[in-house]
Amino acid sequence: MTQQPVTTVHLTVPAARIITTELRTADHTTETGGILLGRHTHDTVTVHHAGTPGPAAVRTPTYFLRDLAHAQALADEAFASDASVWVGEWHTHPTSRPVPSARDAATYRQLLDDPELGFHSVIAVILAPCEHHWACEAWAARHGRITPVELRLDGPVG
Ligand SMILES: [Zn+2]
Repeated sequence: MTQQPVTTVHLTVPAARIITTELRTADHTTETGGILLGRHTHDTVTVHHAGTPGPAAVRTPTYFLRDLAHAQALADEAFASDASVWVGEWHTHPTSRPVPSARDAATYRQLLDDPELGFHSVIAVILAPCEHHWACEAWAARHGRITPVELRLDGPVG
């Protein structure tokens, strides 16, 4: 199974539902988010599971960092259920656009630089408020570059 540079992120219904629920219930004075778990086949990453922030997540108005222990437990569960692996993360930008920040880019670079994690590309799904809904954009980070990719949804998010 060959992994090519990502052009499409496919968010499945169960993953979108977790994000939608978190968007409806979170306090949006700070960012929220979680990890994404799924599979990278050819040029598409299919996201089967999305995480919630977890109790130890770092949440500020302009930054989000996952709760590592919470993320690891979700990753173990997802791998056991359908061989999903950690493919990236999602988070909100309550006060800006759904575009990776310089700090986001540094986080993705750290993940890509860690050989033990074995990332081909790091997927970022970023949501920002747009009038009365959430605009949702997908990005792929690889080799120090972040490019926008197509986001395929089976239903609405937000
Ligand atoms: Zn961000």
